[in-house]
Amino acid sequence: MMPYKSRWRVDIPNCALPTLLFKSPSEPLGDKKPCFLDATRPETHYFTPSTFRAWCQRFALGLLRSGKFEKGDRLLMFSGNDLFYPVVFMGVIMAGGVFTGANPSYVARELAYQLKDSDPKLLLCAESSMDIAIEAAKLVGMPKENIFIFNDAVYDVDFSPDLEQQGGSLNWGRLLAAPEDARGFAWDDSSSLQDISQRTIALNYSSGTTGRPKGVEITHANYVSNCTQSVYMASLREDDAERTQRARWLNFLPLYHAMSQNINIAWALLRGVPVYIMQKFDFIQMLEYVQKYRITALGLVPPIVVRLAKHPAVKKYDLTSVEAAMSGAAPLGHEISLEFNKLWPNGQVTLMQGWGMTEATCSVLGWDPNEKPTSHSVGELIANCEAMIMSEDGISEITTRGPDARGELWVRGPNVMKGYWRNPKATAETKTPDGWLKTGDIAYVDHDGKFFIVDRKKELIKVKGNQVAPAELEALLLDHPAVADAAVIGVQTEDGDERPRAYVVLSPDEKSQNTPEEDIVKFVEERVSRHMRLTGGVVYLDVIPKNPSGKILRKRLREKAKEETKVV
Ligand code: AMP
Repeated sequence: MMPYKSRWRVDIPNCALPTLLFKSPSEPLGDKKPCFLDATRPETHYFTPSTFRAWCQRFALGLLRSGKFEKGDRLLMFSGNDLFYPVVFMGVIMAGGVFTGANPSYVARELAYQLKDSDPKLLLCAESSMDIAIEAAKLVGMPKENIFIFNDAVYDVDFSPDLEQQGGSLNWGRLLAAPEDARGFAWDDSSSLQDISQRTIALNYSSGTTGRPKGVEITHANYVSNCTQSVYMASLREDDAERTQRARWLNFLPLYHAMSQNINIAWALLRGVPVYIMQKFDFIQMLEYVQKYRITALGLVPPIVVRLAKHPAVKKYDLTSVEAAMSGAAPLGHEISLEFNKLWPNGQVTLMQGWGMTEATCSVLGWDPNEKPTSHSVGELIANCEAMIMSEDGISEITTRGPDARGELWVRGPNVMKGYWRNPKATAETKTPDGWLKTGDIAYVDHDGKFFIVDRKKELIKVKGNQVAPAELEALLLDHPAVADAAVIGVQTEDGDERPRAYVVLSPDEKSQNTPEEDIVKFVEERVSRHMRLTGGVVYLDVIPKNPSGKILRKRLREKAKEETKVV
């Protein structure tokens, strides 16, 4: 084996995540600046590192005293972003529990799947989604008393029963210990390397290379590593200290997803960067906040880059505070990056692409911050990471470089997941015994050691940065009475996004044969969240192409779709 190795190495502390971020339970923290601010009212609603730590400790102690939660238990968070989202995330970890966040746009069926799979003791749910949560909990037999309403009312009124909903649901404020009790609460920590590297703190859901979404087990060591690696990479920049001094970030990507969770909670805290939290993404609102709060760096996904590059309204806003921009989560062409860069005519911003995966905590490939990207490369290996380009059958390593030497990207590093939650089979299929993560992405390396992602071998479809697992839609399609078989693939849109498209075989009876395509589209639409809808259309086939062992030949279907959707 001759893996590519990162040019950089950084010492990874052997400690729990809260210890990395706060040092100790009671040591005074700098507190010169806020760490998290509610973007709608930052003057009054914010945390400094000390107040944030205190809220997390209150939640951690309260959880353990509630009689409903013990070390090792999971807590599922079903909410959009909120000033208190990071409190729940870190509080659960401090209590020795496992945090799992669900996509806030889930319908009850989808939430029930994550509930059943992660098997949490408690469910915290945004007020507006309580009906969905209750329905989902019913589907999996979770008692209603274990569902708590999550909102930010506790910032103004310390918990009182008046906060509880008419319907009798409990407010999460009940789970907060009194400030004086929680002061100095010693979080779950351990000096034993083995223990820290093995203890799972988050289950971030991802379908990986195949099948339905699975809980990706991220440990203390994974988180501490990826935080340390990423902050180290940023520190390579000569003027990093001054930049960090004036840095302000805007959090509009969802905090249930690995990318936003890592960047906006952990990395920001470690670097001491204030983060303005938006409850949900709104393009114009985002522009307003960038202007108003003088945001210095943008963490983006391709559909937002495209809108920034093309939307006429962008010109109306003052974006001169922005010094850096990064895009990840899905492919982005170089042309669009160049168009995006033109928003700053003096050349102060050059968009950098990075590559990451939930199974690698967050980030693996990125640009040396001292360079200016001249291509759509996703950069090189960040500190302490290794990679190999493997033949698509996963047997031999490709050691030549250049666009013709493409193969499956395998990566290894201290940030690679422990495995999939309660799923040893999927873990064994994705991670080798010596720690290589088979990413399912097709890549090549050029002569400068820069990586290019060129295709996907895995089933995954990405819609506006969200994962869509074809296996999930295929299973749902089979529930339609007229459907005998189905395969779902992604079709590329002009602006580089994807749309799920279903190939369907109808049952032979006359009634099924007469089913209009729209009926199938509607059937799915009624049962899934927005990004999962079959916006790429439904096409009927006589038979789904499969290999002799019954595996869908997705590549063939993708080529077929390309032909069918070609504009003539
Ligand atoms: P997730 O686990 O949701 O972050 O999805 C990870 C997957 O997103 C990767 O395996 C890639 O398929 C895709 N991805 C992430 N970043 C990039 C990128 N910069 N270019 C192309 N694909 C990407």
